[in-house]
Amino acid sequence: MPRPILATIHADALRHNYHVLKAGAAGSRAFAVVKANAYGHGLLNVAAAISDADGFGTVEFASALRLRDAGYHQPILLLEGVFDADELHGAAAHDFWLAVHDEASLARLEAQRLAAPVQVFLKLNTGMNRLGFPAEQAPALVARLQGNPNVAGITLMAHFATADEPAKGIQAQMTCFNAACAGLQLPVTLANSAATLAYPHTHQDWVRPGIALYGSSPFGLARTAQSLDLQAAMTLESKIIGVQELQAGDAVGYGATFVAERSMRIGTVACGYADGYPRHAPTGTPVVVAGQRSRLIGRVSMDMLAVDITDLPQAGVDSPVELWGRQLSIDEVAAAAGTIGYELMCAVAPRVPMQVADGMLARS
Ligand SMILES: *Cc1c(COP(=O)(O)O)cnc(C)c1O
Repeated sequence: MPRPILATIHADALRHNYHVLKAGAAGSRAFAVVKANAYGHGLLNVAAAISDADGFGTVEFASALRLRDAGYHQPILLLEGVFDADELHGAAAHDFWLAVHDEASLARLEAQRLAAPVQVFLKLNTGMNRLGFPAEQAPALVARLQGNPNVAGITLMAHFATADEPAKGIQAQMTCFNAACAGLQLPVTLANSAATLAYPHTHQDWVRPGIALYGSSPFGLARTAQSLDLQAAMTLESKIIGVQELQAGDAVGYGATFVAERSMRIGTVACGYADGYPRHAPTGTPVVVAGQRSRLIGRVSMDMLAVDITDLPQAGVDSPVELWGRQLSIDEVAAAAGTIGYELMCAVAPRVPMQVADGMLARS
């Protein structure tokens, strides 16, 4: 038997989540955001599961190419645009749509005639202060793009900084966007997962959900994935490969940070930070052992971690351990570890074998 760690990708959950998002944004089309190897789920695993998606959004040019090469003909939006002239020519050749966010990316589009015109997503900064032109420049930029024979069409694009935080909201960014773009009769895309779920007036022409597609809530535990009718798209599991009986005063793991206060049984699980499990997850982080909730004990090592099986007498070597997934929300693990579901799913390491639940076997 190989090392027992395994990530299972639930194609049915991906389809379910995509359709939940679409049903909530009726009238809008959706880019399924599949950057970062589909948030760690495997680009082609996810594309196959939601092959009817209206479009895909990604950041890496190579992943856009992989989607085209695999036969996906729908729109593919490069969310950060292209990074050089070669990519620009490639985008024109493969009909990738591209964000244009600064003078350099606009000048590149004006430098020479492309083999085919491209769809441009004019990225406006409405307060996130990450990428984008100052929003008030939108009318002048649109006029400039409309005179460019390389431009097949223009969509206005912005991104919210606090759509996931109800106390902060999105009002200032919406006001900025609306003031700048009032007279422009153009398609619009604004909404990430949080805005798609929380603010219907942001849906416009295209929504751009990422995290919710994978069954993690953009609101963390404040609005759980379950309450949003989202299903976990990944289960990360392993097994207990060793058992230790502790007496009061015995320590566990590197740094001896956990010391037993009574006699305990500890299971050693074949999963560590080199598999993508967060090293900073503290004692008490939830795990599911043989279907029962338990807790992490002591420091996470590179290849192993320890779980408390004192109150699980039926648990022992070979017992299954779910690190996150269908029985234990990734958002609970993330909250315990002081991070977000995004970071955990993106960090699942290449050495972890991945299978798709409906039988296809792929690692992409
Ligand atoms: C990653 C990304 C998204 C998706 O965000 P989620 O919070 O995962 O839904 C949407 N738009 C842009 C520009 C992005 O970079």
